[in-house]
Amino acid sequence: MTKLLREMPKVELHCHFDGSVPMETVYELGEEIGLTKEYLSQIPVTGQCEDLEDYLKSFDIILKVLQTKDHLKRATYATIKQIAGEGVKYLELRFAPLLHLDQGLTISEVIDSVIQGLHQATAEFDIDVNLIMSAMRSHSAETNMDLVAAIQKLECPELVGFDFAGAEPDGANDHIKPITDKMQENNFHLTLHSGECGCAHNVVQAIKLGATRIGHGIAVAKDPKVMKFVSENNVLLEVCPTSNYQTSGIKTLADFPARTLMDANVKFSISCDNRTVSNTSLINEYQILIDYHHFTIEEFIQTNRDGIEASFARAKTKVALTEKLNEFHNKLH
Ligand SMILES: [Zn+2]
Repeated sequence: MTKLLREMPKVELHCHFDGSVPMETVYELGEEIGLTKEYLSQIPVTGQCEDLEDYLKSFDIILKVLQTKDHLKRATYATIKQIAGEGVKYLELRFAPLLHLDQGLTISEVIDSVIQGLHQATAEFDIDVNLIMSAMRSHSAETNMDLVAAIQKLECPELVGFDFAGAEPDGANDHIKPITDKMQENNFHLTLHSGECGCAHNVVQAIKLGATRIGHGIAVAKDPKVMKFVSENNVLLEVCPTSNYQTSGIKTLADFPARTLMDANVKFSISCDNRTVSNTSLINEYQILIDYHHFTIEEFIQTNRDGIEASFARAKTKVALTEKLNEFHNKLH
């Protein structure tokens, strides 16, 4: 089964760059700036965290090795290389440029360094990659407006989406409209972390702001009306089972609401969130859905079709990805 899951051409839409840099690369970069292996080895989460905020502590460590142009470029290359090795053919990699400014880089230098690593990796491996810019909920509106202003000036075809990440209180989307409006005016697609740890209402609000995808969104499974709203608006959830378990969004992996969502016609695509912090892979996430929720290969093909459709890729890329998936599908029969 693992071989088949690896061979299946997959899309991954919810992947945080900082949380997904391979440990081997983190050690290598960390050593260059005097960080010990013992300190860095605390990054992967073991077991269940108290909540999302507790889970996010690992990022304070990782971010220390992602503060120079060279490190950003190398880390991006290594991350994409690893993901391509899992049979992912299209990736949307997201990151928060404002978290990489500690040593004096500008926002455009951060983005440019990541794009250099991206180009190096996509030239070498069979994978297409686009980028999503994440604003942080913990930053002030003014700071996030600075981010918007900097992004607007850039002309990079890889910048396709915009997101808000970080701890998500009830009402988290109450005050972000000026920013999400501005990004949509600039032709950025919108996906928002919402309903990750309990607030279905945040998902409704995210959709009203224009989000066509929702990061996690599993809280909707508790509310049939909200599921109906999600389904009627053809919004796709980017689900990440291990991460939801670790942040205590669900109590056990068996509680992951895959079947509830499917029964309510809520589309979703499967992702890792943070490979390294969550110590997982996309193959492992698929295996969890097989083990706990009896997923079939046909169902994974469907989640990938839905993922392609809801992706922020250009039409040409979507056609090419669909062809790859059809080819794989045909070979099964
Ligand atoms: Zn996330």
